Amino acid sequence: MPDTIPKGLIFDIRRYSVHDGPGIRTTVFFKGCPLRCSWCHNPEGILPEEQLITRTRSIDGRKRFFKETVGEWWSPAEVFDIVLKDRVFYEESGGGVTFSGGEPLMQPEFLNKMLLLCKKEGVHTAIDTSGHAPAHVFARAAKNTGMLLYDLKTTDNTIHKSFTGRSNDLTLKNLRSIDKTGPAVIIRIPVIPGFNSGFDGMSDLCRFLTRLKAKLKRVDLLPWHGMGYEKYRNLGMTPPTSQGNAVDNEHLDGLLELFAKSGFNVKKGG
Ligand code: SF4
Repeated sequence: MPDTIPKGLIFDIRRYSVHDGPGIRTTVFFKGCPLRCSWCHNPEGILPEEQLITRTRSIDGRKRFFKETVGEWWSPAEVFDIVLKDRVFYEESGGGVTFSGGEPLMQPEFLNKMLLLCKKEGVHTAIDTSGHAPAHVFARAAKNTGMLLYDLKTTDNTIHKSFTGRSNDLTLKNLRSIDKTGPAVIIRIPVIPGFNSGFDGMSDLCRFLTRLKAKLKRVDLLPWHGMGYEKYRNLGMTPPTSQGNAVDNEHLDGLLELFAKSGFNVKKGG
């Protein structure tokens, strides 16, 4: 009989995470993402396949280079065994497991199996997603998770396409589709210079979200701090073009005020 239990391509599992949802969490990083954001810090999460990365190690004072595989196929039971190791911390801190990436919705069967295992055992789940997925995939995941960490970038489709390579249609439609019986939603907006950090674009986002406010638990603004391109090169990938300087604190405070004045529970995220 063929093995019908889906395996997931995972590039990292981090325990004791405190930035990926409430409480202490285990974050599972799915490999593969439909977007190509020009500020992506996780290039190892982009391609839906195993990759070789060049690592450096110093041995006896000499620099040595070696190759390592990024991405490994895991069964749901194998991942769940790791998740359950920290159950006591989840219970004490109100934490759980977060599925991140990459884009977890790109591996819908594996994700769903994980969500159902967690649900059965009472482990809280969050999905960190751009919402760029077919409606039926999104709806099933939203039904089975406790929380969505929903990454929203801009309402302007032309700008979205030029900086991520994809339309924002699915992202906006799927967010609108969540009804009042749906999971808790935290909107995460990366604040990227030269892309969406201006007041006009953020005001548009704020207006779009105002119509959905009743569904939202919080809005997080995540300032971009620049990044190293080394990881791209070590993966044999072309680094994106530079974004310019990170936004200063005064500008960020102004953006936080914009959302707060519109009645959002807003905070600066890390
Ligand atoms: S959605 Fe996230 S993982 Fe995908 S390319 Fe953009 S920043 Fe990277």
